[in-house]
Amino acid sequence: MFWNEKAECMTKQEKEKVQLERLQQTVKTAYENIDFYKNMFDEIGLKPEDIKTLKDIEKIPFTTKDDLRAAYPFGLLAVPREEIVEIHASSGTTGKPSVTGYTQNDLDIWGECIARGLKMAGAEKNDIIQNAYGYGLFTGGFGIHHGGNKLGAITVPISAGNTARQLSTMIDFQSDILTCTPSYAMYLGESRQKAGISLDEINLKAGIHGAEMWTDEMRKRIEKSLGIKTYNIYGLTEVMGPGVAQECEMQNGMHIQDDHFYPEIIDSQTGETLEPGQHGELVITSLTKTGMPILRFRTKDLTSIIDEKCECGRTTVRMTRITGRSDDMLKIKGVMVFPSQIEKALLKIEGISPNYLIHVTRPDILDEVEIKVEASKELFSDEIRKMEKVEKQISSAIKSETGLRVDVTICEPESLPRSEGKAVRVIDEREL
Ligand code: ZN
Repeated sequence: MFWNEKAECMTKQEKEKVQLERLQQTVKTAYENIDFYKNMFDEIGLKPEDIKTLKDIEKIPFTTKDDLRAAYPFGLLAVPREEIVEIHASSGTTGKPSVTGYTQNDLDIWGECIARGLKMAGAEKNDIIQNAYGYGLFTGGFGIHHGGNKLGAITVPISAGNTARQLSTMIDFQSDILTCTPSYAMYLGESRQKAGISLDEINLKAGIHGAEMWTDEMRKRIEKSLGIKTYNIYGLTEVMGPGVAQECEMQNGMHIQDDHFYPEIIDSQTGETLEPGQHGELVITSLTKTGMPILRFRTKDLTSIIDEKCECGRTTVRMTRITGRSDDMLKIKGVMVFPSQIEKALLKIEGISPNYLIHVTRPDILDEVEIKVEASKELFSDEIRKMEKVEKQISSAIKSETGLRVDVTICEPESLPRSEGKAVRVIDEREL
């Protein structure tokens, strides 16, 4: 049931002892080997020895994505180049990407974290993992791959895309586990139905999905369309990749592998540390990374921590589903809106697909928002008056979720662009 019971079920005292020892070691390594951290500490007169308790971590300034970009490509490595065995990088859609270097030890730990998650999803050694995350600089494909190898399962590196082949592989190999982004899982589910493949022909039992924000409503649709139980996974290139946290069978928050990653939640405006249960920005410190240790990295992801023992028996703290990023929040007509809120509202409406596009413009001085959303075939072929009624329903669901009045347009089924990687949900054409 557990991959590593000793690590996943420690008592609070045991864990805090392990975390403190590892934190002190990480801080020392970072200070002695990375100029960026030496300068950061020296500037405020902080010494590695000043970290005497876990709480002392708050004395360390934050590391941001901009710091990583400024060190592009290899400025934050803590070891000589010959010890690095793999490199990954974030997409870099805005500015330079951030690059992460892994030692063999880092890859072993990455595999360990993923193996814990695969086990949470019920994976066994003789299971076939259809790994439809992209292989490449993006961490999704290789991260799952390292974990599949660690577990000793059979990993099929099919990568993202080529939907017809994904479906035939599912049938021919009788794959047990599907790993991919949630939007691609949904697309595969839709494609299965469209191709007339019955659930009896496939053998999937679980899906591990992450790398983009998704909601419980979307989970229900994926589970139904593929006949699986789904597990939310979390991670980020700057820290490691997927596997920093994952849901267990309780589907009630993602277990953070907190013997390897120390989580904090802060108020993203003031930087002040918040308590478990309070909602804010996740900050992560790596506790065992050797290639590129990272201290108090601001993830920009908004969540909260659950510090209670889980019914599954694990004692690692959990984080709740990401509700948005502090930087993908849209400010429309002065109101703060997250795409997740729109999605939540849409999925409450019968006959509406969770494929949507938020289009924001400012034709004159006021913001205008149009939400385009796909209808089911049945709804779309109904009379115009019924569609108008549904548009009003959607508009009022969004109003109650966000406080914002928006225009809603129902589009033909499958008319909005589909994604094989991360879904694009927002087009913001305002010049701000
Ligand atoms: Zn659990």
